[in-house]
Amino acid sequence: MHMMGRPLSIKVYNPANGEVIASVPFMGEKETKDAISSAYDAFRDWSKLTAFDRSSRLHKWYNLLIEHKEELAQLITLEQGKPLNEAIGEVVYGASFIEFYAEEAKRVNGDILPSPMPDRRLFVLKQPVGVVGAITPWNFPLAMITRKVGPALACGCTVVIKPSELTPFSALAAAELAIQSGIPPGVLNVVMGDAPKIGNSLLESRQVRKITFTGSTAVGKKLMAGAAETVKKVSLELGGNAPFIIFDDADLEVAVKASLASKFLYTGQACICTNRLLVQEGIYDKFMNAFSNAVKSLKVGDGFSEGVAQGPLINEAAIHKVESLVQDAISKGAKVVVGGKRHSLGLTFYEPTIISDVKNEMLIARQEIFGPVAPVIRFKTEEEAIQIANDTDAGLAAYLFTNNIQRSWRVSEALEYGIVGVNEGLHAYEVAPFGGFKQSGLGREGSKYGLDDFLEIKCICMGNMG
Ligand code: NAD
Repeated sequence: MHMMGRPLSIKVYNPANGEVIASVPFMGEKETKDAISSAYDAFRDWSKLTAFDRSSRLHKWYNLLIEHKEELAQLITLEQGKPLNEAIGEVVYGASFIEFYAEEAKRVNGDILPSPMPDRRLFVLKQPVGVVGAITPWNFPLAMITRKVGPALACGCTVVIKPSELTPFSALAAAELAIQSGIPPGVLNVVMGDAPKIGNSLLESRQVRKITFTGSTAVGKKLMAGAAETVKKVSLELGGNAPFIIFDDADLEVAVKASLASKFLYTGQACICTNRLLVQEGIYDKFMNAFSNAVKSLKVGDGFSEGVAQGPLINEAAIHKVESLVQDAISKGAKVVVGGKRHSLGLTFYEPTIISDVKNEMLIARQEIFGPVAPVIRFKTEEEAIQIANDTDAGLAAYLFTNNIQRSWRVSEALEYGIVGVNEGLHAYEVAPFGGFKQSGLGREGSKYGLDDFLEIKCICMGNMG
């Protein structure tokens, strides 16, 4: 619907069949300013509640999210396409941040410092930063919100959330449950519609003291530049280019199972999904044989169908990107081992794919594929594997498979990545810090470290103590 050139609503599509699910309001500058004012007003009371009070409301929200796990998962599968069991996993993972930070809320504490002067005392207070603007992507439409909102609310901040317009329903449902759990109106606000206008309104506002963003590196850079004018705090969770290194001394079965999960879960659409498989020459043939057989057995289809391991890609643009990266690699000498084209189901379904003879200079090894394509690079030595793995601007997740304990330490320490898995292909927990080196981001989400970005540190010096 349009009025005076501006649409009133946007349609949301089911990626598995291309049908319109429903429409959501198309918001812009005015609605964002209203949401910021509402968050600013709510901050006064919310930040003054005791940590115990905020904690108990977060616990209630957690319980409601778990109680409504099935319905939330259905919304995720409907709007995002992932298989229902993966969607249930996302709800449980997403809710775990609310439970974890409900507890952490009670552990935000300051410090008393040794004073250099006998008549003065020095204290450190930790206080909430204020209103937070949270911008999230479509690939984990619920969990990327709770991973930000959990720590923000625990610290006493209030939030304006802008979910992806491709997947707004799970965000709205989670916000509705937050209200039911006694989180007062204004503490959580959801806006959606014109992304650049909403983004600019958040950036320009002097009342918004922090931007927390998960999404592409390109948009993250724009937000970081835009935050300079008002010197806002910025946390960024951006794209990855995860290497998955298999050494000759790895356990083949463990490596095959993990590479399958690390590449094909979420249809490859997670920032920590494997982007490049690096396989040492001694295990290469055995691995490729077992991996190809496993990949051929993956069932592709609608996320609501029984036994489906891989759903559709999110939209046409995503499948075009995957197709062009595969074509580019083939034109430069890479070979298709399995798959390599759109799936017979049509729309945005792509065949689970392996391509070999990939070189790290090819586009497919430099860009984030975000699709079910495993490019394989063969290497000879440990030094070569580390050099290839680190030869990228990204630094989010990396994985290595070996049964040699010295090598596991040596390589883990050498990898320029924020998240490393040893004989483990995909890991993200609420208790663990999540975030990247280099252009994969700034700050960490999850764990006790995830609170830091929502807190200001104030040093108080008390004089004349007698
Ligand atoms: P995206 O950058 O296109 O969009 C992310 C969000 O930013 C969306 O809500 C979008 O509407 C909004 N946006 C777009 N332009 C904007 C602007 N000018 N101002 C303000 N907001 C704007 O990313 P995406 O395609 O939704 O998500 C995929 C990307 O997210 C991948 O690169 C992936 O690696 C990354 N990701 C990273 C993590 C992590 O934790 N590091 C987790 C999940 C996804």
